[in-house]
Amino acid sequence: MKLYYKLKSKLGKEKVHSYIKNRARATLIHELLHLKYKSNEEKVRQLTRKYFDVFKRTAQNLEGNATLQKRHQSVKFHKSSCSVAKI
Ligand SMILES: [Zn+2]
Repeated sequence: MKLYYKLKSKLGKEKVHSYIKNRARATLIHELLHLKYKSNEEKVRQLTRKYFDVFKRTAQNLEGNATLQKRHQSVKFHKSSCSVAKI
């Protein structure tokens, strides 16, 4: 918790919260990949980085399109179904 307050005063609440959320997502991706590649830590780490990059790019694109609310929804749906298909 000390680290949380330190980061919060340094970066601001919003940034720290999105950092924590991203860490949680990365952890989740990591754990899900372990279901598939049980003891292959190197492979899991590699794929976690790869999928997390895809996620970050998608999130940034969606932020950029935030004014186009309706499109925003369909783009979001389209992209998530694509990345599921790729996995
Ligand atoms: Zn691991």
